[in-house]
Amino acid sequence: MNGPHFDVAVIGGGAAGMMCALTAGQRGRKVALIEHNDRVGKKIAISGGGRCNFTNTGIEPGCYLSERPDFCRSALARYTAWDFIALVERHGIAYHEKKLGQQFCDGSSREIIAMLEAECAAAGVETFTNCRVQRVEKTDRFCIATSRGEFTAQSLVIASGGLSFAKLGATPLGYDIAKQFGHRITPLRPALVPLTFSKPDEPLHELSGLALPVVTRCDGAQFGEAMLVTHRGLSGPAILQISSYWREGGVIKMDLLPDARAIESLLRARATGRDLPSVLAEWMPRRFADAWCARHAPAKPLVHFKQREFDDTLALLRAWPFLPARTEGYPKAEVTLGGVDTAELSSKTMESRRLPGLFFIGEIVDITGWLGGYNFQWAWSSGHAAGEVA
Ligand SMILES: Cc1cc2nc3c(=O)[nH]c(=O)nc-3n(C[C@H](O)[C@H](O)[C@H](O)COP(=O)(O)OP(=O)(O)OC[C@H]3O[C@@H](n4cnc5c(N)ncnc54)[C@H](O)[C@@H]3O)c2cc1C
Repeated sequence: MNGPHFDVAVIGGGAAGMMCALTAGQRGRKVALIEHNDRVGKKIAISGGGRCNFTNTGIEPGCYLSERPDFCRSALARYTAWDFIALVERHGIAYHEKKLGQQFCDGSSREIIAMLEAECAAAGVETFTNCRVQRVEKTDRFCIATSRGEFTAQSLVIASGGLSFAKLGATPLGYDIAKQFGHRITPLRPALVPLTFSKPDEPLHELSGLALPVVTRCDGAQFGEAMLVTHRGLSGPAILQISSYWREGGVIKMDLLPDARAIESLLRARATGRDLPSVLAEWMPRRFADAWCARHAPAKPLVHFKQREFDDTLALLRAWPFLPARTEGYPKAEVTLGGVDTAELSSKTMESRRLPGLFFIGEIVDITGWLGGYNFQWAWSSGHAAGEVA
């Protein structure tokens, strides 16, 4: 193949790819950033509801799912949330903590994209948009066939992301390249994704739009956040978070009364003539309380509940079993769980142990963060790790 030669070619102009490209460029490497969309950073643009939840100050390896959860430790320690925040501050981007350590732009996600583009330009990175990578081969160098001709490079960084939100540019190309060079891909599935009702819960769609604070529990994980009823099932942060731990056929236990004061008020109300829905309505939307009680609780004032009935109802409120039918799939998933097996990558550099010069960064790697800025931080940290050596 003939074509322009680069020290480093990065496939994918998303969060990880841009961070890697600018880091390598700052080292004086000649870098090509290859993106098949008409512009870079499309996922960043829509992230965080348009305000990009760009990192989290509570980052810990335990907030990531992986077959090898310790793999992320090194990269996260060497390029931290505070490093990225310092970059954001250097560019004068106003930001705030929303909750739980989550850092958002005050203005728009586009400021983060503009910042990364400016850093790439200053580092001499050549960005090729509308450039779709079709095939990669390895001779004494990497040969990259694209819709805009051929490129060659000494190092190749795969930053093509996961499978979610295909309308923003996701393709399976990176996984195909990984397999081509002998890498194993751990099982892939949509994560941080809404879950749909199974038949018995379908009537709940009438409550669509209602939100309430809950604690969701599944497979040893738990999240105290809001749950949202939709036309098709359940969503909201508490559900998106637990969806990463849920598997088909599994049950999610939901504490509908996570506030200890709610239990106290129920215990007090037991001695009065009040009915259960009216007490619950102090802690959740009235329509949700009515619907839940109609399905699960005796229809009589609390004072007439036998001890057993009261105990059972309370237990059910605190561990309501939700059996989803399925996830809403990649079109609605924020991330892809699973990816390139980290056993075959260096945790310090993200370089392939099978083929020197080949790197995998960002979401394509089998590292998946919680909701709340964890996935971007992984993209920045892994991108930086590869950019320092590629
Ligand atoms: C709706 C939504 C909201 C989100 N909000 C947040 C948030 O607020 N905070 C957070 O931490 N995470 C958030 N995420 C997750 C976060 O966006 C991803 O984890 C992150 O973008 C992954 O970075 P990446 O660089 O690995 O992949 P991406 O950002 O997906 O970038 C991959 C790039 O590769 C390009 N590409 C793919 N195939 C090819 C090809 N064949 N040729 C050329 N280019 C190709 C794609 O077009 C894309 O630009 C959100 C995700 C979604 C879908």
